[in-house]
Amino acid sequence: MEEKISQIKKEYLHKIQKASTLEQLDEIFIGLFGKNGEVDQLSRQFSTLSKDELKIVGPLFNQIKQELEQAIGNRRQVIKEEIYKSLENETFDIKGNEIKKRTGHMHPLTAFEEETAKIFNKLGFVQIDAPLIDTDYNNFEVLNIPENHPARDLWDTLYLDTTNYQLPTTKLLLRTHTSNSQIRALKSSKLPIRLMNIGRCFRYENLDARHEHTFEQFEIVYVDHGVSMANLQYLSEYFLKAIFGSDIKVRLKPKYYPFVEPGVGVDGLCIFCKGKGCKVCGGIGWLELAGAGMIHPNVLKAGGVDPNEYSGIAWGFGPARMAMIKYGIEDIRLFNSGDLKFLERF
Ligand SMILES: [Zn+2]
Repeated sequence: MEEKISQIKKEYLHKIQKASTLEQLDEIFIGLFGKNGEVDQLSRQFSTLSKDELKIVGPLFNQIKQELEQAIGNRRQVIKEEIYKSLENETFDIKGNEIKKRTGHMHPLTAFEEETAKIFNKLGFVQIDAPLIDTDYNNFEVLNIPENHPARDLWDTLYLDTTNYQLPTTKLLLRTHTSNSQIRALKSSKLPIRLMNIGRCFRYENLDARHEHTFEQFEIVYVDHGVSMANLQYLSEYFLKAIFGSDIKVRLKPKYYPFVEPGVGVDGLCIFCKGKGCKVCGGIGWLELAGAGMIHPNVLKAGGVDPNEYSGIAWGFGPARMAMIKYGIEDIRLFNSGDLKFLERF
């Protein structure tokens, strides 16, 4: 055993002196001290030694371990100094390698949202803001979705843990839709109102090519005397024609949203198959592009508006989903990916 230890010492001291790069030294270190390295293997044989043998071998083993470690450290220092010296004389010529200038551009989603805002702005709609963190009251209750209402299952909500903060309300959440702007619009504006809200929303979603936990929504609120489903049909056609061209056909179909009555899904004739049925539209021939409805009387009342005198429309959609159709984008997750290859397509 003593002989074996001395042999390892000799062999490795030689290797260490011959090493000329830091990588080689690292390899030597691992060969010695790594898992299953020489040191590891040797120490495993100690159990076969007698007590007397161990008394001699033990200290020798420790001494040589230290010597080798020291030798590696010294050699590392020498190699480093050589590297620094060689760098001192190195020059770097930047004249020939000018950095290529690249012009940036707007994110496709931002561009699409700006286009949307412009289209509605022409009809007199004005942008308003609403907070991304809001109360359960503004996001649900006031929109005719009381606690324990089964409709809450439509939104997988991210609630905030407020235990350590002294807040007037403990029920805070990340808004699940831009509809939290509705109550603010109704309360704070003089009638009639034409307002729009664009922004981020959050849901606890299983992610796939069509679902994101962080996504954008666009929504308008239009309240006046005599606003009706005819206005809703007109707004739907006006917007979808502006985005997809004048030959797009639009239909409304009944759909349930708790904060509107009646509620509708706004379908556009599939722009890929023109109604014949294809993979994108699932063979139906129509694509659901927006959701809308007449604002529920309860919501109007909560906003201080007399439903017997006024009526209103809420109309909205997910800009990412619509941009996917317009630009033929296959995966919604690309928008937030920061992937330059994707962004440079626009
Ligand atoms: Zn189709």
